[in-house]
Amino acid sequence: MTDNADKSMDDIVSLCKRRGFVYPASEIYGGINGFWDYGPLGTQLKNNLRDAWWEAMVLNPPKGPDGERLQIVGLDSSIIQNPKVWEASGHLAGFADPMRKCAGCGHFVRADQLWEMLATSSEWVDSLLQVFTPITGDIDTPRLMDWARKKGKKLAPNLALVRNPEVTLSWLAQRVNGQPDAPVEMKEFMRHVATEQLNATGLQEPCPRCGGELGEPAPFKLMFETWAGMVQNDDNKAYLRPETAQGIFINFKNVVDTSRVKVPFGIAQVGKAFRNEVTPRNFIFRSREFEQMEMEWFCHKDDATKWYKFWQTERKRWWESLGLTSDNLIMREHDKDELSHYAKEGAGTADVEYRYPFTAPGFGELEGIAHRSNFDLTQHENHSRTKLKYFDSARGELAKNGQPKGEHYLPDVIEPAAGLTRGVLALLCEAYTRDDSRPSPEFLKLHPRLAPIKAAVFPLVKKDGMPEVAEKLHDELQQRFGRTGFIETDAKQSIGKRYARMDEAGCPWCFTIDGDSLTEHTVTARNRDTGEQQRIAIAQVGDFLHKALNI
Ligand code: ATP
Repeated sequence: MTDNADKSMDDIVSLCKRRGFVYPASEIYGGINGFWDYGPLGTQLKNNLRDAWWEAMVLNPPKGPDGERLQIVGLDSSIIQNPKVWEASGHLAGFADPMRKCAGCGHFVRADQLWEMLATSSEWVDSLLQVFTPITGDIDTPRLMDWARKKGKKLAPNLALVRNPEVTLSWLAQRVNGQPDAPVEMKEFMRHVATEQLNATGLQEPCPRCGGELGEPAPFKLMFETWAGMVQNDDNKAYLRPETAQGIFINFKNVVDTSRVKVPFGIAQVGKAFRNEVTPRNFIFRSREFEQMEMEWFCHKDDATKWYKFWQTERKRWWESLGLTSDNLIMREHDKDELSHYAKEGAGTADVEYRYPFTAPGFGELEGIAHRSNFDLTQHENHSRTKLKYFDSARGELAKNGQPKGEHYLPDVIEPAAGLTRGVLALLCEAYTRDDSRPSPEFLKLHPRLAPIKAAVFPLVKKDGMPEVAEKLHDELQQRFGRTGFIETDAKQSIGKRYARMDEAGCPWCFTIDGDSLTEHTVTARNRDTGEQQRIAIAQVGDFLHKALNI
């Protein structure tokens, strides 16, 4: 087990490219920020995760707190909907991040991420900190001057220190040396360096890219716009959905009217979502096109807290069952000030968070479990002027005959909303293992259920009838296990290199046909995680794999 802090994202990204999991989108044209393509193994891994979710939600849902099997049905709604959907959901008015524009280079910075970006992604900050460590209260004027004239000019031309070094330095010296006992924190220091003259300009926060002055925060819309129809005008404006959830709410009545569901029940959907993220980053963690797996659980408001707790436990357990170890996975309840626009009194949100290498020792969101109250259905009922209330014949006052009279209501909603592509990232990070004592130091310990290659069959050499025996075994295994992954076969290169390639692809088992296979009808079975080998009968390989994969 590892806390992931020792795993390098560069290593993981490079393995993903090398083995065909994930490629930068439009790579031959220099890429496009925030978009990724999934290669042969990545696509299969993503499909396996999606299918595992669909099975756990729709095909074979869990039993609820009272022991009854839950009812959840599937849906596949359109990516583009009537724009009124986004007006009702609040996305048109509220789905925006506060942004600040740099007066120097025009770069946009997310206001709430400024200091994080300064600390983690500014070349000029790194370079400047090497010249001056602002903890002693002393300023090394000649070194700073030298930095401003050379490196600073190149890396942060709009920084006050670079544009006007004498004035800024004299102000800095006064400011820093005036408080010799108070160590200057980096944050404060950066404010100082960006400041030309305190009385003239006030404190400014520097642009992470060029050191320039940042303007006032203004909202930046996150929805991608397009047009539906021949004419590109406001009447035809449409939006790519920023979440799959709204497609479910607007079909609530359709599903109730056309299937036999009764509250409490769920509607599940997997699909693409698009957000024009200001700073897409950390590989596929935050991209502009991604996939979500969302389920809206409709229940009576009196039961909402029970279901909110149930889904929190259930969703964490599910991720653990796919190999995310409990040490790297936590459930975190949001603070009141983090709550979304739909959360009203009594409602809440909790996140399943994973310790990604770039957040370690901290955590980042993997799935949100939100109590959305009946906000969305109320909004759609009001905006569409369509009655969406559910008639619950099992509730309400008792009539004279002792039977309930029934109750009309808009159900509350508990929403477990997971990222499919973000899930793929968490699984890859968890699976990535480095052991320099092995002949194949890098390997992916993927859960056998999710592994895109289930097994490989190798003839030791390409002669003496070994390829034919391998081919036969390959066909047999492909027939039996090919529904959720490939069975690989390959006769090129040394057997060590072939094992190493399979280890990097996360293939749990390799079977090698050698000279003894022809005479004794046995093969070598090699385990990905331990590298251990054992001899088994060829006729037993299918059953052996079935037991070993346990899927
Ligand atoms: P974040 O706080 O990371 O921006 P969010 O709270 O806005 O995420 P939700 O709207 O709750 O996210 O979406 C549900 C899930 O969709 C998230 O838990 C995450 O796994 C995934 N997700 C959201 N935005 C992105 C993105 N830009 N790229 C990849 N996955 C995303």
